[in-house]
Amino acid sequence: MDRVYNFAPGPSMLPLPVLEKVQEELLCYGNTGMSVMEMSHRSKMYLEIFDRTVAGLREVMGVPEGYKIMFVQGGATAMFASVAMNLMDGGKADYIDSGNFAHNALVEAQKYGEVVVAGSSREDHYAYIPDYKLSPDAKYVHITTNNTIYGTRWDHLPDTGSVPLVADMSSNILSEVYDVSKFGVIYAGAQKNVAPAGVVILIVREDLMGHELPITPKVMSFKKMADADSMLNTPNCFGIYVAGLVFDWIRAQGGVAALEKVNIEKAKLLYGFLDDSRLFHGTARRKDRSRMNVTFVTGDADLDAQFVKEAAAKGLCNLKGHRIVGGMRASIYNAMPIEGVQALVNFMKEFEAGHA
Ligand SMILES: *Cc1c(COP(=O)(O)O)cnc(C)c1O
Repeated sequence: MDRVYNFAPGPSMLPLPVLEKVQEELLCYGNTGMSVMEMSHRSKMYLEIFDRTVAGLREVMGVPEGYKIMFVQGGATAMFASVAMNLMDGGKADYIDSGNFAHNALVEAQKYGEVVVAGSSREDHYAYIPDYKLSPDAKYVHITTNNTIYGTRWDHLPDTGSVPLVADMSSNILSEVYDVSKFGVIYAGAQKNVAPAGVVILIVREDLMGHELPITPKVMSFKKMADADSMLNTPNCFGIYVAGLVFDWIRAQGGVAALEKVNIEKAKLLYGFLDDSRLFHGTARRKDRSRMNVTFVTGDADLDAQFVKEAAAKGLCNLKGHRIVGGMRASIYNAMPIEGVQALVNFMKEFEAGHA
């Protein structure tokens, strides 16, 4: 069977050259005589892979000195708790409630300190990035740079002054250029833009470590995990290896800046069609539209379902919107080529002609 265009929100498409490389090396990595899956995480051969992966991320993302890169587990969901346990330090934190995951993050953080909801678009189905008012004495400000379910994105970062900015970048990390020095902590579940599920990228400014609550589990302590170089316990060895191959692929594409250009083109193509369509309508406010997750509806749930089904039959898969919002969502991460977006637009035109 041929590979399809997979518009899944995560786990999601990986670049084909990466999958081919994994396949080539699956049974025997280099001259080791074994698979990466079979290696000790403490072995010299695996530590080489690990160090290359860390260096690869540092390079493609431009992570400056003074920031520790870690690969941890528990998904972005575990980070919702970790961030609060490590940074709350008996004080309070500002959270911007811009989507379902942003909301989950603040609910989790409430267990470990005072959470101030500094802005929210919850009452409006999270169709936009809300206005907000920051507390000058917060320990940190938490944002979700791209809202995966509702298809919105921060088009500029909030100015938090000397208060550390913490970002859940799960669904747009490495899809656009960010100045990492503007952040205190960045975390991202890797299964959207980077790797198979089970790896979390965690980047922490070093001065923010070592202030965790005493109840913090050892594996969730930024300081202890950093001191152990992500190997306090067995990491997701295989996922980290694949992430390293993805960083190589990003470099071969010309880096994140080059991918950002393509991602803007892909988003323009799809939103341009939606804006002129007589059948389909985008659901996110124009200014805040995501370049990674494009949400749209026909306005008729049965027709939406029919569209999703017929698209899948044409090899355009996983276009169903999240179960809490319905409609359609096309996730067009780095690995989705512009040809895939063009094929989707072509099919939408065809469907529109039959139904509008
Ligand atoms: C997918 C996602 C999550 C949840 O990630 P898990 O790895 O499943 O815990 C959190 N935040 C955002 C922005 C996401 O897109």
